[in-house]
Amino acid sequence: MPDNILSFDIEDWYHPNLAQEELLRHLTLEDRVEAPTLRILNMLDDSENRATFFVLGEVASRFPDLVKEIQLRGHEVASHGFEHNLVYDYTKDQFETDLGRAVEILHNLTGEKVRGYRAPSWSLGEKTPWAWRVLRSFDMEYDSSVFPFKTFLYGDSTAPRFEYEIQLGNGETIRELPPSVMRLFGQRVPFSGGFYFRFLPYQVIKAGIRHCNRGGNPAVIYLHPWEIDIEQPRLKLGAKDRFIMYVNLNKTEQKLQRLLHEHNFVSIHEYFSSTRTESRIVQAVDEAEIAP
Ligand SMILES: [Zn+2]
Repeated sequence: MPDNILSFDIEDWYHPNLAQEELLRHLTLEDRVEAPTLRILNMLDDSENRATFFVLGEVASRFPDLVKEIQLRGHEVASHGFEHNLVYDYTKDQFETDLGRAVEILHNLTGEKVRGYRAPSWSLGEKTPWAWRVLRSFDMEYDSSVFPFKTFLYGDSTAPRFEYEIQLGNGETIRELPPSVMRLFGQRVPFSGGFYFRFLPYQVIKAGIRHCNRGGNPAVIYLHPWEIDIEQPRLKLGAKDRFIMYVNLNKTEQKLQRLLHEHNFVSIHEYFSSTRTESRIVQAVDEAEIAP
């Protein structure tokens, strides 16, 4: 059975950008991220799987022991930025400041290099070509922020579906590892995380993983701790946003359990260290190249 890639964005129930307007009405926000993250760690232990945890700086500063626990259990600690702001709303300098704080706190807690980044709400891409260079200036090796399917909030349906290398000029490159989408009747169909993972039946997700693996690629799965936190406060969102945020919260933990027992998962760093992917990378360069 091939290895697939598992990732979690470690943020609280009140961090999703979709919820920000409604949240301004709440005076106090209860921190809830610890319990579901610990449950995820236990599930990974039980199923002998490993993952990459993109930890938000705000969470790391409030729960330093949680970051240490993630590392202690053998997983990769990577960055989800410091504040949960959209990268395309930042200037380059603001992004640099946010990332600098994020990397510093994680590095101080783990003593290890922070190798990877995932932008809040997949908000890094063609509109922010400077952002990849900023990541590289912090010595990051990979980014996992370009969602290869256009939604009303984010994404780019012309972006490559599998890992590729981005040329940054001066001979520098950074790896991009997108979350997986499958192809069905000539269309791209997201399945591998978040709303799609909660909404779709387990068998569809499993078929999506098989579809990636048949082409010789790992599936890249992503979830958030709040997606298994059934008792989180519900925000008064419009019908569509409520559906996106809360559909099937009560079934997601079970679905994740099953996924973990039927597949082998590794962290992104482990995947990159254990595979030689030169041909695939070279092939994708043309498609992905941005002007220096
Ligand atoms: Zn996030």
